[in-house]
Amino acid sequence: MEKLLANQFALVTGASSGIGYGVAKALADAGASVALNYHSHAESAEKLADEINQSGGVAIAVKADVSNPADVDAMFEACRARFGTLDIVVANSGLQKDSAFAEMTLEDWQTVLATNLTGQFLTAQAAVKEFRRRGPTSVSKAVGKIICMSSVHEVIPWAGHVNYAASKGGIQMFMKSLAQEVAPERIRVNSIAPGAIRTQINRDAWDTSAARDKLLQLIPYGRVGEVEDIGKAAVWLASDESDYVVGTTLFVDGGMTLYPGFADNG
Ligand code: NAD
Repeated sequence: MEKLLANQFALVTGASSGIGYGVAKALADAGASVALNYHSHAESAEKLADEINQSGGVAIAVKADVSNPADVDAMFEACRARFGTLDIVVANSGLQKDSAFAEMTLEDWQTVLATNLTGQFLTAQAAVKEFRRRGPTSVSKAVGKIICMSSVHEVIPWAGHVNYAASKGGIQMFMKSLAQEVAPERIRVNSIAPGAIRTQINRDAWDTSAARDKLLQLIPYGRVGEVEDIGKAAVWLASDESDYVVGTTLFVDGGMTLYPGFADNG
């Protein structure tokens, strides 16, 4: 049986670790050729690219800082040079710089917004331009698919993390407004909002049993998420199986957004 994303070309930003790594692997397993963007860890992006290439897939590693317009342009140029075009773009790169509000530096505010929000703006803008340049294809019903990596914190306020929560709240309306604007061109834009997924970004929240027990109180489904959970959602959202899904945030969070504190409260 033909794979769900056969003959499609994908770019995943922040693919050298965590969710981006898992998403890139899942897209490759589903038959897509994948460009793995990395910012700082060339080795792990190149290692994953080698693994994909050796197992019969196609992958390249591309360095870029997604908050830098020239880097983003060069990243898309590298994808065009190798693949000819892109069908799927996953704007995943993100970071946290946490602190109590009054102590938060302007630099930490700006760094988080620059990567998490401006980075997705630049990546999605380059994607829309590429989809328009290339036009319709026979590999997918949509002219192109953009997946924004949001967070449950696009709706759950987060004290001590106002920069991060503001960036993800921003992604919610960024994604929906962009989806509304480009849907008539059959460009599908959606978000995935992960809950607590076991990666480096939140190591403190799961790497001791005390921290894990506290975290599990926030997850009705009773387990911490894995990057594969997000990878599977990304494959579906990137495929024609979700062709009528436009401008939606898919929460993949074990029920974290179900207000678990109310479960036995009244
Ligand atoms: P991670 O730290 O493993 O991955 C983040 C990736 O972004 C890294 O590969 C990093 O190199 C890359 N990156 C950072 N700044 C960059 C820049 N300027 N240019 C290019 N790449 C850059 O953490 P993760 O958990 O895999 O996070 C991935 C995404 O998922 C982020 O957007 C994060 O906000 C989101 N998310 C994660 C969780 C979770 O529980 N892990 C929950 C909700 C949302």
